[in-house]
Order: sequence, then structure tokens, then C-alpha cells
Amino acid sequence: MLRPFPYGANYLSLQDTPELHRSLDNKVLFRYSAPAPSNADLLEAYAAERLGAGRALTVPNGTQALRVALMGTRPRVGDPVYIPAVTFVAVAGAVLSCGLVPVLVDADERFGLDASLLPADAERVVVAHMEGTVADLPEGVPYLIEDTAQATGGRHTDGRHAGTVGYAGTFSFHHAKILTSGEGGLVVVRDPAHWDVLRSYTDHGSAREQGKYPGWNPGAFYGENLCANEAVAAVQLQQFRRLDEILSSLERHYALTLEALGERSDVTVVAKRPGDVKTSVRLLLESRQLRDRAMERLEERNLPCWSLDKYLLPEHPVVAGRASLYADGFPWNLADGDDRYAPLSRDGFAATRDRLGRTLCVPLTPELDEAEQILLAKEIAATVASL
Ligand SMILES: *Cc1c(COP(=O)(O)O)cnc(C)c1O
Repeated sequence: MLRPFPYGANYLSLQDTPELHRSLDNKVLFRYSAPAPSNADLLEAYAAERLGAGRALTVPNGTQALRVALMGTRPRVGDPVYIPAVTFVAVAGAVLSCGLVPVLVDADERFGLDASLLPADAERVVVAHMEGTVADLPEGVPYLIEDTAQATGGRHTDGRHAGTVGYAGTFSFHHAKILTSGEGGLVVVRDPAHWDVLRSYTDHGSAREQGKYPGWNPGAFYGENLCANEAVAAVQLQQFRRLDEILSSLERHYALTLEALGERSDVTVVAKRPGDVKTSVRLLLESRQLRDRAMERLEERNLPCWSLDKYLLPEHPVVAGRASLYADGFPWNLADGDDRYAPLSRDGFAATRDRLGRTLCVPLTPELDEAEQILLAKEIAATVASL
């Protein structure tokens, strides 16, 4: 019955992708050789408009979006970057690969970064909107980056889009995300001057004009090649045009699932806010043991569900092991024995670990029809009740 398949992937369609046909007809898939406006230009304009962001820049994936956003803050080597203790390891990797050092900050009850733990002089902070749940933001941080890889289209309580409030917001089009082109990323910034810096960095430090060999301003800095691909941008444009449909389908499935679960004494349904993207329903069970047994039973019966355990960074081998391919251990070596980089938690992450261990997520997917979604919710409720 159930074919769990991620969100935007359900909407991929060759018929619906005229820009891809045009690029293939033109035989140009390189952004800066395409007739203006390129697909990448169209995508960036569409995304900025749809999200209410200043400017958008497309990059090869969400991890590069984070790296580019971090480089655009013009950091010093070894600067601390405060990151959530509960997020995908890409955040830590992006920080480290810029020569910066991640400092883990414990989570609040919604698994967002607990801003009350930040030092008053924090310069660079990454907040991640995990699994559609839009996190509260710290105030007064000069370089606040909103990692929106898992919450494209989500909104803060004041109505502004997730990703558009801080200095920069980053998005992913990986296969498992809300919109997909297999791999892909986007970074948005409020300030056009920041956009110019990021664009140059992603094109060898150049000041390129469309259709020309890259040119260089005096004082050009070194960069990388992280330019968009026109075929990929065409698919991303198609996906972005479907965003509202995807979000409203998830809303409908969320409401149906809550109704099917009903009032329960054995689990707490963790309510999402109106602006959160409804990628799943989160359930909180009484103990980790019960949660683990529920997951085993559901897996035996081929019913999709997942936990968020994998996001606990203090226990992730990449973070806990502090290893590096650099022979001198760079950049972890810069933080050795220095208290400024100590993780920020009141209880050594105990409450977060406990809460993660009791959390079970029921996936919502536009691919299920309504009857299937209700059936899935009922089966999961019955499984939990039978423990
Ligand atoms: C997926 C993800 C990323 C990385 O995005 P990629 O496009 O896979 O590089 C970063 N942060 C979070 C929270 C993610 O879920």
C-alpha cells in the first residue's frame, strides 16, 4: 500500500519543465553562456519573490550554500560559529571546511537552537529549521544564518519566510527535501552588496558579465567554482512553482492525521505552529524503550516512520571524533584546550537526548491519497496502543 517518497519528487515532470526543453534546444547548459535571462537568473528571481527575500543565488547543494554564506561574513580563521546541537552533520562540516570551529548549542523543546545559551557577543550563529519546524531566532546577532534545508516555504510567527530574517538563509534541493532537483542549493541574503560578494566567490572571485570570459575587479579575492547548471536550475524552477501546492497538500494530510490519531493518553502529539511545514507529525512517547519497540513493530509491518536520533551532533562520530584530513588536525587544532569552544548546555544535553529518544515521526507525503494517509495514522496509533 505505502510508497513513501519525498515531497517535491512526486511533482517532477518533463511536461512541466519548458525551460529545460529550451536549454536543450539552445544546446547551452552553462549559466553564463545562456541567452539572458538564464534559467538560473529566472530561478533566483522567482525564489526571491516567492520568499520575500532580498536576493537569491543558486549553488550546487545546501552544504555549499552554508559555506558560501559563512565565507561571505569575511571571518578570521578559527572563529567560533554557534550551531545547533540537533541538526544534520552538514552544518558542522560546512563550518569546519571554512576553517572555522563549530560550537554546539543545546536545543529548546522544539529542537531549535536555544538562544538563551548564546554569549552576548556571538558574531556568527547558524539556526536550523529542522523537519519543517521553524525555529525561534536569537536577536542582535550580526551574522545569523537560517539553515532552511528542511523547511522551504515555512514562516516565522510574524509571517516572514524562514530563511529571510537573518543575514542569510540557505536551502537544499536534495532528493529528500521539500523541493528537489536531486542535488541543489540556494542562498538568500537581504543585502545586495552581500549578494555581489557571494556571487563572485562562487565564480573564481570574478566580476563576470553574462556571455563573457570572467573579468576581475582590482582587489579580487580567490573563489571557487560553484556555478549553477542550467538543466538543474530548470528543474528547480519547476519545483518552486509547485511549492504552494506541496505545502497545502501537506497541511491537508497533517489535519487528517491529527484527526485520525484522536485524543490519546499513550502519546503526546507535538503540535506544529501554523507557519511550520507539515512534513510529519511528531509523537512523544513515554520512554525511549517504548519508542524503540514502536519503531520495530512499524518496520516489521512496513509502515514508514522515523526518529530524529541521527541529528544529535554531540554523539555524531564526525563531531565527537574531532578528526580531520589535515595532518595537523586543522581546524579542530585551533580550538584545543580553549574554553571559548566548549559546548553550551545546562545539563550536558541530557534533556535533549531524552526527548529525542522518545520522539517518533509519522511521515506525511503528498503521494499518499487521503484514505491511505488516514489508514497510516490509524495503524500507527494501533501499534503504539498495543505495546
Ligand atoms: C540536507 C541538509 C543540509 C545539506 O544540504 P545538501 O543539499 O544535502 O548539501 C544542511 N542542513 C540540513 C538541516 C539539512 O537537512
